[in-house]
Amino acid sequence: MKKFEKILNFIKNIYGKQKIGLHEPVFLGKEKEYLIECLKSTKVSYIGEYVTEFEKKISEYTASSYAIAVVNATSGLHIALKVAGVNIDHEVITQPLTFVATANAISYCGAHPVFIDVDRDTLGMSPESLSNFLKKFATLKNGKLVNKKTKRRLSAVVPVHVFGHPCRIDEIVSIANEYGLLVIEDAAEALGSFYKGRHCGTFGKMAVISFNGNKIITTGGGGIILTNDKILADKIKHLTTTAKVPHPWEYYHDEIGFNYRMPNINSALGLAQMEYFDKILNDKRELASIYEKFFNEIQIPFIKEPQNSRSNYWLNGILMKNSKERDILLAYLNNEGVNARAAWRLLFRLKMYEKSFYTSCENAEWLADRIVNIPSSCRLNKLT
Ligand SMILES: *Cc1c(COP(=O)(O)O)cnc(C)c1O
Repeated sequence: MKKFEKILNFIKNIYGKQKIGLHEPVFLGKEKEYLIECLKSTKVSYIGEYVTEFEKKISEYTASSYAIAVVNATSGLHIALKVAGVNIDHEVITQPLTFVATANAISYCGAHPVFIDVDRDTLGMSPESLSNFLKKFATLKNGKLVNKKTKRRLSAVVPVHVFGHPCRIDEIVSIANEYGLLVIEDAAEALGSFYKGRHCGTFGKMAVISFNGNKIITTGGGGIILTNDKILADKIKHLTTTAKVPHPWEYYHDEIGFNYRMPNINSALGLAQMEYFDKILNDKRELASIYEKFFNEIQIPFIKEPQNSRSNYWLNGILMKNSKERDILLAYLNNEGVNARAAWRLLFRLKMYEKSFYTSCENAEWLADRIVNIPSSCRLNKLT
């Protein structure tokens, strides 16, 4: 118990207040100025320059050729899967240790998630688990890759960069390529994270980043799809803007599209935050090293950026001895006004996914029992 009190005091000291959220946004730049500009020009919705400027900023920052802003990352995943050809009764390979949106987006396509294990050090999809699954269950039938057990077509792989920590994405892509499977990276939490010097989300065919209110920067709600493929980028833009064929006055739509375009007013917020994103990132990394030092001293394992990577440390996490100790700490911190949380319930434990196909996920189980995420908000309150 003494240890838990130390943790509480340490966190309260860092933030210097009584009630501490898990991850709160900061608005320190030109956010207000840009929002007022939206109101003055009346361009609050789908027309306006902030959307294209924000897209340009993200595409430059990530070194991705194309970036298409959407209403949220869940919709972004839906569209990415759709243009990847994921269709009714297909299967998409993903991990159970992730936010539910990863699997929901697969379901929106009428497809089924298949869950394989993660690595303990990266928290992301394990290349060995992917390779083992494919060796054991994948077979070619009429030139299509199918799961021998379920007879369903296997059409894509969706690894996740959990809490901003990069997974072994190069190995995952190379295994998927051997089998002709497309990789879509769920980089929702990974803006500012790099693997072997390249930004997360630039390894797969497509990737999605989230700008929800709890992410490292926010547009209120929002997401962006990354790709280096011009044909896919054009398709994504078309599908997310109701499949309207551009014309000054005619309304002609050539397929069933989606109203997933990010509004100008949301992009204004994102653009303003990108202008000082380096400062946010530095602060997050400094906070992580302060936590790391503290948890080393009290001998509780702190989740560090994996090898070969530079993490944005979106959410800091520690590993408790077991789920019982985890729950005691969570109850204690939350009762004292500090919002800590457990990792997600593994997705095959949720009612709607309990009948899903999954392989043994020992590492995911091990991690889910132990992870406690602790407050990780950026501490800056002004730009100097
Ligand atoms: C936040 C998140 C999403 C969904 O993002 P939204 O923008 O809220 O739709 C998807 N996957 C992961 C891993 C996330 O953390």
